[in-house]
This record gives sequence, C-alpha cells and structure tokens, in this order.
Amino acid sequence: MQRDQVIFDLIAEERDRQTNGLELIASENFVSNQVMEAAGSILTNKYAEGYPNKRYYGGCEVVDIIEQIAIDRAKELFGAEYVNVQPHSGSQANAAVYQAVLNPGDKILGFDLSHGGHLTHGSPVNFSGKLYKTSFYGVEKETGILNYDKIQETAEREKPNLIIAGASAYSRDIDFEKFRKIADSVGALLLADISHPAGLIAKGILNDPIPHCHFVTTTTHKTLRGPRGGMIMIGTDFDNPFGLKLKSGKLKKMSTLINSAVFPGNQGGPLEHIIAAKAIAFGEALTDDFLHYQIQVKKNAAAMAEAFVKKGYDIISGGTDNHMMLIDLRNKNISGKDAENALVKADITVNKNMVPFDDKSPFVTSGIRIGSAAITTRGLKENDMKNVVDLIDEVILNFENQEIIEKVAHKVNNMMANKPLFNK
Ligand code: PLP
Repeated sequence: MQRDQVIFDLIAEERDRQTNGLELIASENFVSNQVMEAAGSILTNKYAEGYPNKRYYGGCEVVDIIEQIAIDRAKELFGAEYVNVQPHSGSQANAAVYQAVLNPGDKILGFDLSHGGHLTHGSPVNFSGKLYKTSFYGVEKETGILNYDKIQETAEREKPNLIIAGASAYSRDIDFEKFRKIADSVGALLLADISHPAGLIAKGILNDPIPHCHFVTTTTHKTLRGPRGGMIMIGTDFDNPFGLKLKSGKLKKMSTLINSAVFPGNQGGPLEHIIAAKAIAFGEALTDDFLHYQIQVKKNAAAMAEAFVKKGYDIISGGTDNHMMLIDLRNKNISGKDAENALVKADITVNKNMVPFDDKSPFVTSGIRIGSAAITTRGLKENDMKNVVDLIDEVILNFENQEIIEKVAHKVNNMMANKPLFNK
C-alpha cells in the first residue's frame, strides 16, 4: 500500500509547530515516548467490549491484563476503590456518571461555563443542558473566587439531584469537603470533575476530592500527562440510593451502575491501545519524578501570574493555586480573539476564553487562558517565566505590528530550541 504522504507531511508540520512554539494551552501537555508508542500500537486492532474477564469477544487475554494494570495503577495513584478507565474522553466520563444516577429531566447544578465551568456541566449547547434541568453557581464579581455560602443558597433554591464541582478555567483550589456538606444538606449526589488539576491532585498538591465526592471524573491528557481520554473513580463504593436491584434482589453497587453506563450505556468497544497508554502514564505518575514535575508546574504558573500582575494584567482571582490562570484583557484594550490570533503568529499558543461577567461573545471573549503544564514538560523553569510573560506582553501591546510579532516568534523559536518534545 502506498504511504499516505499527504497526512504524514501534515503530521511532520504539526510536529514542527509543537517543537518550535511555546505551548500555553492549559489543557494540553506532551506525553512520553512510551505513552506515544502504546497509543500507536497494534492494540488498536482489538475489540474488547465488556470488562476484564467478562468480555463479549474472544482473544482478550492480553488486553484483560493491560486494562487491569491500568485500573490498579489508577487506584493506587488516587487512592480510589473503584476505577473505570474506558471512557474515550472527559465528556464521555461525565455522560456516563449522569446516565448512571440521573433520569432525563433531573436537576444538575454546575459551574457556570462563562465563569470557568465546562460544557458538560450543563451548558444549553451540550447534551448535559438538553437532557437535564440546569442551574449554575459562579465566582464573585469582586474577587473572582467561589463563594460557598452562595453555592449553598443556590443548592437550597434549586434542589439539584447532582452537583458538579470542577472547572476548565478556575485557578483556585476547590474545597470538596464544603461541596459535600452542601450536597448532603439538599440530598444531592456530588461529582468532582478534576480534568484540569488531576496531576496536581494525584501528587497531593491540591485538595483531594476522593474522600468527599460520590464520583470523580477526569481526563487523562491534561496535567496527568497521559493519552487523550477519560476516567471515572469512586473513593468509597456504596450501594446505590435509587434502589436499582440485581436479579439476586441485592441493591446494585454504584460501581456496577457506572460500569453499565460506560458500556453498554455510552460506548461500544474500549480503546485498548489508549488504555495501555493510560496504564503507562499512571505508572509514570506514581514516580517521584512526576511529583517534582507537578511541583514545577505549580511554581511556573505562580511565577507567570506574578510577572503578569507586575505588568498590570488583570488575573481573575489575582493569582493561581494550580497550573493555570485566566487573564481579563479589557484593561489592555484587546479582545481574547485578537490576542490569541496575534500570539499564534508569534508561535505562542493560548486560547481565548470568556471571563466572568464577560460582555463579549464566546467567539470574541475578553480573556485568554494560560497554563504551565506543557512548557514545564519541555523543561522551562520559574526563572524562564518572566521571559515568557515579556514575550506575550510584547505581542499584546503590538498586536497589529507584524514586524514585532515576527521578532518575537524568532525569540520563541530560540527559547524552545534544544528542548525535547518528548520527556523520557
Ligand atoms: N471536564 C473538564 C473540566 C474539562 O476541562 C474538559 C476538557 O476540556 C472535559 C471535561 C472534557 O474532556 P474531553 O475534551 O476529553 O471530552
């Protein structure tokens, strides 16, 4: 068969883009060689509907072992009692939890998308906003921080069946214990979606949701630095509160409900090549090297936030506890869209982002979101962050000046030269 040079040339082009640029998208990272190798392995050929030792296909002996290793490593990493590693994405992990415990028309309470939440937390353009009745909590206008008393009030008024704690663009640590008290007071279940800070949580750098939340979902590809995918965890397994019974008459365990909601509820065959890559990434995450990496991720984000504040940038909440920050650009007279476009021309990748109480549309936005996970993998340290912020500032202040933007691109390419794309 002829090699598909069209696609491979484009992959080479994308490799150059990733290698030469400053990757500041908060949800991205660079996986290791071995994670990449597993993700591109012959395991992609295998169908394995079902779960280890309970499959609907023959020939699953090997993938059974691989999937069980992924489960066991994830349990160890997060201290969970139950893990499902099959969700193809973070969205599908959330969909499966909702399907396991909610009926269409039930109520969910999530973090407002325009304040930092995720589409799957009830946005009207997403299945979550179409299937369920939604209400939202958000950050305070003055502080940019969650106010738990107000969340309590909203929960009492809305009486949700499920509360979702977690975000895509919130730079502060989340108090899951407080969320659980709120959930218990209104008889709601509590889901923590830790897609963004999962790596920091795994290494004990941020609050641990596992002891407090009925369910925890995550993506595996952000700070956790694995392949693209999702995962569902339960800290303490318990009988379901809905009275769904097994044939034996016993109450179905929550883990049984989640397993059925993932397969056959939401998905067919699991991606065993991705599950193998997840297993490798979890193995890497169990090491001390990964702890040092996460400490550096946090230090780099803090150093970047400090440098931005010094230059008069308005960071929502004034700083960061994790790997990311949201910057309101309204005092710099540039939209998120124009900033993103100009920065891309300088080989700096960020994404435009709504800021709380934004007056611009989601296609334009007033802000940008910046994260440190990917550049930390490339080897940048906190003393590089002032330099990074200077380059961003130069572009933002001169976003219509092609000459300056080209000069910045050159500096970026020099900065990233000799910094390997793959960590060992
Ligand atoms: N949940 C949160 C908080 C996220 O930030 C994301 C992704 O950005 C997701 C869920 C969805 O993940 P995926 O893009 O894998 O569907």
